[in-house]
Amino acid sequence: MDRRTFMKSVGAASFATVAVPAASVRAEAAVSSDVHHRYDEIELGAGPTLTNEQLGERLMLLAEKNDRINLRQIGASAGRKDPIWEVKAGSGDTSVHIINQIHGDEPYGTEALLSIFRRLVDEDSELVDSILNNLSLTILPRVNPDGAMHHGDLSGDGNDQRLGSRENQQEWDSSYSHETPYYYNDSLHASDVSGYDPNRDFNIRPDFISKFHDDPEQWNDDGELTMEYKGHTLETCGARLTPEVNAITRSFLEADPDYAKTIHSQNIPTDPDSGDPTILSVMASYGPSHAEKAPFRDEDAPLASYANPFIDEDTSTRSIRLNTLVTQALDETAGPWSTYETGTRFGYASLWGSYLDTLCPLTNAAGMLYELPGQSGQVGTRAYYKKVEAARVGVLESLAAIAENPSLSHVDEDDYFDIPLKGGQYEYDASRGYQGRGGAGTR
Ligand SMILES: [Zn+2]
Repeated sequence: MDRRTFMKSVGAASFATVAVPAASVRAEAAVSSDVHHRYDEIELGAGPTLTNEQLGERLMLLAEKNDRINLRQIGASAGRKDPIWEVKAGSGDTSVHIINQIHGDEPYGTEALLSIFRRLVDEDSELVDSILNNLSLTILPRVNPDGAMHHGDLSGDGNDQRLGSRENQQEWDSSYSHETPYYYNDSLHASDVSGYDPNRDFNIRPDFISKFHDDPEQWNDDGELTMEYKGHTLETCGARLTPEVNAITRSFLEADPDYAKTIHSQNIPTDPDSGDPTILSVMASYGPSHAEKAPFRDEDAPLASYANPFIDEDTSTRSIRLNTLVTQALDETAGPWSTYETGTRFGYASLWGSYLDTLCPLTNAAGMLYELPGQSGQVGTRAYYKKVEAARVGVLESLAAIAENPSLSHVDEDDYFDIPLKGGQYEYDASRGYQGRGGAGTR
């Protein structure tokens, strides 16, 4: 029902459900080649992250190899008009939706997903057979292409460097929302470009169109939108103003996932006991059934501020199991990388403009937030491939486990609450969840 409403409201008729043949994808890319010449003007620096053009080329090469992977463009970024790609694989009963790099300066999952796609395409093994036969994968390897290519003159020497930004590139337009949303930034890192944080722009109502729903939606002077939904008051809702979030929402509802995963990076969090940097932080999204265990539970506060009222017990349980499983898989893979043992978890707090909290309830998807350390704009961000590997192991192990046992009943959910809460630089803000210093937060 919700899915149909959204599809109708965004004009899904032009949204083909069949895979685009590789030849059409090539033609589509060629049409936008006038965009791509601009890459030549950018100093790419020594960083290993792929440009949008390079990512598109790699995906097309994989899609051409055989029919195990279907590739299509599901939208374009607001500023650069670069493609947002969707990869589909498998024909199983359990649907899994994964988005990566919704914050453009959080690139590690991209290379990890490419390496998984390569295995799915090239490898004949029990693992690959099991994934392709039991799962239907919908994976969006880079949903914020603007942010991925963001560049600026960091050193002031007149030369731009590729820095990445959390935001897309899009000017606020008063004809679309009554107030400038709090997640709009009018001066991105070392540049005069403006944009929105897409992971604050989601809205739980499939039919929501900003400016057409004045009542009961309310904006305050800080650009925060409060909305009533199914008997709950949701604060700091997204206004769904970005084309990226519209494309992700369509893809999600069409995939109708049982599991959903969003891959991020954060500043360097620490293990609260040792003080050492942690390789990842996970976060399950859960509802009233597990609200008692929510670290920021406040009996005087509304449920919607510390748990997700719209996630049922079965979905909550599967989400907790999934997040536990990934942490344990990394533990077991530690080998020479002892920091893989240092998984931590976010204390769950709802964020009503995020992928996880707004989309998961619509299809009973068990959600997972996957936070690797270090954003690309940070000076001194190190060990790129260690983080790529942490993403690759976590995603692949969880796909393998869901393929074998869709309920993940072999994972003990109590283990989740033994994972240490992450320490470090973040402070918890009751209205906005975790916020980083200077607003460059996480999730
Ligand atoms: Zn992020």
